[in-house]
Amino acid sequence: MKNVLIAGNWKSNKTTLEAKQWLQEWNIQLSNNPIIQWKNMTVVLCVPYTLLYMMKQEIDRLKLPIDLGAQDVSPFAQGAYTGEVNARQIKELAQWVIIGHSERRKNFHETDEVLAQKTSQAKLEGLSVLYCVPDDITLVPAGVDAVAYEPVWAIGTGKSDSPQNAQQVIQSIKSKTHVFCVIYGGSVTPDNVAAFMTQPAIDGVLPGGASLDAQKFSSLIENATSIPS
Ligand code: PEP
Repeated sequence: MKNVLIAGNWKSNKTTLEAKQWLQEWNIQLSNNPIIQWKNMTVVLCVPYTLLYMMKQEIDRLKLPIDLGAQDVSPFAQGAYTGEVNARQIKELAQWVIIGHSERRKNFHETDEVLAQKTSQAKLEGLSVLYCVPDDITLVPAGVDAVAYEPVWAIGTGKSDSPQNAQQVIQSIKSKTHVFCVIYGGSVTPDNVAAFMTQPAIDGVLPGGASLDAQKFSSLIENATSIPS
C-alpha cells in the first residue's frame, strides 16, 4: 500500500469564523465516515498565515487527523524584512509549507533562485516542503519532501490533466529528482480523484477549490483512499 499525501490549498480564502465553521463541518464528516483509511495517509491543510494559530488550537483540541501548512515562507531568517513570515515562526504552528506555487511564480515573480532560498530556510527549521512545479523540467531544490506537479492551465480552470499524462510526468520527475512523494494538482475533485490515485507513480493530490468545502474535501479523501492500492 502506498503512502498517500492529500494537501488542500485554501489560497487567499476564509476568515477566522469561516475557518472555524469548516473545522466543525469536517469534524461531523469524520464521525460520519469511519471507513476512511487514515493509515498510510497524511492530510495537510495549507491555510493563510492569519488562520494558523486558531487552526492549530482547534485541531489539537478536537484531535483531528490534519497537519497544518503555510502557503509561503520568507527566503530570509528573522530580522528586518517587513511583511515577511519566516520559517521559525511558521514552525511554531505548522509542519508543512508550500513553496513555488505557480500563482506565486506568476503574480509575485518568484524565481528558481528565491524558491531555493525559501526551501533552504524551511529545511533549516525542520519544516516539510511541498514544492510545486508546472512540468518535469523545472528545477527542484535538494531536500524537498514532496513535489506537486501542477500544469498551470489546469489550476482553477476545471480542466484537469489526464491521469495517464500526469502519471508519465510524475514518473519523469521521480527519476530526475529522486523525491519519493510526487503528487498531482490541477482541478482535482471528488469525481476525478480516484482516476489519479490509481496511477502507480501518483502518491496523492493537491486540491485547491475542492478543499474549501469540508464536505467536498472529505468526499475527495474518501474517494482517494477507497481504491485498492
Ligand atoms: C492549487 O491550489 O494548487 C490547485 C490546483 O487549485 P485547483 O484544485 O482549484 O485547481
